[in-house]
Amino acid sequence: MAIEAIGCQAREGNILPRLGLWLRRRRDVIQIVQWSMVAFYLSLLIVPAMLPLPDNTAHILDNITLFTQFVFWGLWWPFVLVSVVLLGRSWCGIFCPEGTLTEFASRHGRQRAIPKWIRWRGWPVVAFMMTTIYGQLISAYQYPKATLLLLGGSTVAAIAVGFLYGKEKRVWCRYLCPVSGVFHLLAKLAPLHYRVDTAQWLAGGQRQEKFNCAPLVAVRVMKGGADCHMCGRCSGYRDAVSLCGRPPNQEIVAYGAELGSIWEARLLIYGVIGVAMGAFHWSASPWFIAVKQHLASFLLSHNLSWLLSSPGAWWMLTDYPAQSDVFNWLDGAVIVLYILATALALGTTTEMLLRGAVMVLRREGHGGKVFNHLSQSLIPVGACGLFLGLSGLTVAMLRVEQVDLSWVPALRMVLLGGACLWSAAMAWSVAGQYAVSWRRFVALLAVGAALCAIASGWICLYVLW
Ligand code: SF4
Repeated sequence: MAIEAIGCQAREGNILPRLGLWLRRRRDVIQIVQWSMVAFYLSLLIVPAMLPLPDNTAHILDNITLFTQFVFWGLWWPFVLVSVVLLGRSWCGIFCPEGTLTEFASRHGRQRAIPKWIRWRGWPVVAFMMTTIYGQLISAYQYPKATLLLLGGSTVAAIAVGFLYGKEKRVWCRYLCPVSGVFHLLAKLAPLHYRVDTAQWLAGGQRQEKFNCAPLVAVRVMKGGADCHMCGRCSGYRDAVSLCGRPPNQEIVAYGAELGSIWEARLLIYGVIGVAMGAFHWSASPWFIAVKQHLASFLLSHNLSWLLSSPGAWWMLTDYPAQSDVFNWLDGAVIVLYILATALALGTTTEMLLRGAVMVLRREGHGGKVFNHLSQSLIPVGACGLFLGLSGLTVAMLRVEQVDLSWVPALRMVLLGGACLWSAAMAWSVAGQYAVSWRRFVALLAVGAALCAIASGWICLYVLW
């Protein structure tokens, strides 16, 4: 398939390739940005954890804890997701403090070979699900000590992995970071990428100093931007690598069968769509309350009332009596149950519909590849769901500050509808590679049914409950 590239033709006259070359040449500026981000991140993480919790009269602009909570969870996280969709993983390569710290540790550490267990492709799925669920159990979005434990724990692990493995590499980011898999998926949609001209590379081009690709990408044969951290260090190498624009669907439609994997599909369907939906749902769900009340009556009638007490440790379950915010054992168990049940129900429904679409496309012999390919068409709706869920805290905090947000519900529906249409259009293009006529149309109907199931979860949360 022909590779379309926007902005690569006239390298010297074009702003994108020149920006890529600037990133390669000005590592000094990049490093100042990176270490400033480390300092900013550590101050946001540590300072609020050492201060008393704010009372009910505190506001974002007059209380440092609320201010950092808003910056961290209300702005930073949702808009990092948006940045990955718009700019690829520039966040990882240029701004991420954990990436900077793990690479620094790797430069000065033991520099051991990367063990096989680290390369297991299931880590992004397991790490994303576990941190999401644990974050809900300890209310990491609300309380600074819980934030410090969750994010600080991840940072310490990133430094330890960097210290032990790789030489100036980001082994943590490539294989273990809990959000690396999510960024990997979202970056497939980015209209920016580093395009590699393999023929030019092999022809030699201009002799240049070797570069260090910290996230261990095989740059010479790189076709997509999912693993690339957009750091620019390879830019211009042998005159074969340049920062370019591309159509946002290109990577998935053209290379999705080749570059996709079953682990990616699982992360998207059961993690980004399923677990995330459960995590954002439970606190507003009438089903959650009904199940909890039913189980509480059962426990009381069976002399198991100790399960209605709290463990008294904030790092196990949310425990802030002064804020009237304490989870008991039953709360914790029902939160985990609710999130996993949502992930299983929505994930299984989505998977079955996609497998039905693959059968209609009559690709029994290559069903796995087609399934992996078609599942990637759900990335826009998955990304939109994550943004809606994460920005829910932004909206909640601004409402407390009396900011007029009456336009938000309509905007949410526009974003959700737009993401569903984007996913459907992508599924149509992907299905067109395997079948034409009515088979393609029926496959689209199956994907459309999956999109309706996913959208209905968000409509329950934002419209019906
Ligand atoms: S391929 Fe590697 S070196 Fe090149 S921009 Fe991406 S992360 Fe940087």
